[in-house]
Amino acid sequence: MAKNLIQSFESGRVYSKQQKNVLIVYAHHEPKSFNGALLRKAVETLEADGHSVEVSDLYAMHFDPVCGRTDIVGSLREEGFFKYQMETKSAWENGTLSDDIKVEMEKLKRADLVIFQFPLYWFTVPAILKGWIDRVYVMGFAYGMGKLYSDGPLKGKRGMLSFTTGGPGAAYCDAGMNGDMNVLLWPLQNGMLRFVGFDVLAPQIYYAPAHVSDDDRKQWLDDWGKRLNNIFEEPSLKFVDFSNFTNTKLSDKYVEGESSKQYAPTIGQNLGKLFSPTGMLKP
Ligand SMILES: Cc1cc2nc3c(=O)[nH]c(=O)nc-3n(C[C@H](O)[C@H](O)[C@H](O)COP(=O)(O)OP(=O)(O)OC[C@H]3O[C@@H](n4cnc5c(N)ncnc54)[C@H](O)[C@@H]3O)c2cc1C
Repeated sequence: MAKNLIQSFESGRVYSKQQKNVLIVYAHHEPKSFNGALLRKAVETLEADGHSVEVSDLYAMHFDPVCGRTDIVGSLREEGFFKYQMETKSAWENGTLSDDIKVEMEKLKRADLVIFQFPLYWFTVPAILKGWIDRVYVMGFAYGMGKLYSDGPLKGKRGMLSFTTGGPGAAYCDAGMNGDMNVLLWPLQNGMLRFVGFDVLAPQIYYAPAHVSDDDRKQWLDDWGKRLNNIFEEPSLKFVDFSNFTNTKLSDKYVEGESSKQYAPTIGQNLGKLFSPTGMLKP
């Protein structure tokens, strides 16, 4: 048996799984929160399945979320005019990024799957998690030089959002006061995950955990564990392959090929048509 195959026993049969590395980037202050329970469930389940799990617990680490001059150790390539993207790209090439960024980059490099676990803040990720993205996704390392989307440097890795909300599911349906969750997720899943190359898995969403019964929450935790048991076999969400863009736009040939289809290719590349009502929620 290959070294990285794990044997597990389930339902009376022995089967083999590939051992994988998982990084969970976790953004909640309180271990007793439902996010804390989801984190522990993920670690426990994935480790029991033989995977290796690393956690970046951003508040506990006091992770600095603000991009700045101190992200580069030593002198700058251009002292008179600070351009963060170019300076960090050059520091990455020269090994002069600050240590806290380097450590997170190494975790990201090792990971086959990255799970972002967080409570929804202002329809997006909490600032500390946004800052992790801002500082760790350095140009050259995570994107750039024509390497984007399906060609992004992180291609081959799986990425997913697992988050809780304050508002109920009804507030996020297609008639809901907060707007359709399918639409709200385009910037995060396309802009933050697909842009750098991830195969994006369907999001795991818990609407209003504070307003459901304890039994419901326990059931949600069980279901999360069951999903994680097969997370490496799941199909990913559909995005347009990067090769279909010419000078940053969909090629005429691709657009023509879409003309008879009912739905747009994606929410973002909507070509003025209806888009799939579940494209950001299900494969
Ligand atoms: C700055 C800010 C911005 C926000 N913006 C938004 C927004 O844009 N949209 C929105 O919808 N909401 C928003 N919210 C609300 C926020 O998203 C929710 O409060 C949060 O997602 C709830 O998750 P939690 O883990 O904090 O829940 P908690 O309140 O910690 O947990 C819910 C319940 O689960 C229980 N629990 C914990 N562990 C277990 C366990 N093992 N088994 C069973 N039960 C357990 C807890 O005891 C608690 O009763 C915002 C909040 C803030 C502070």
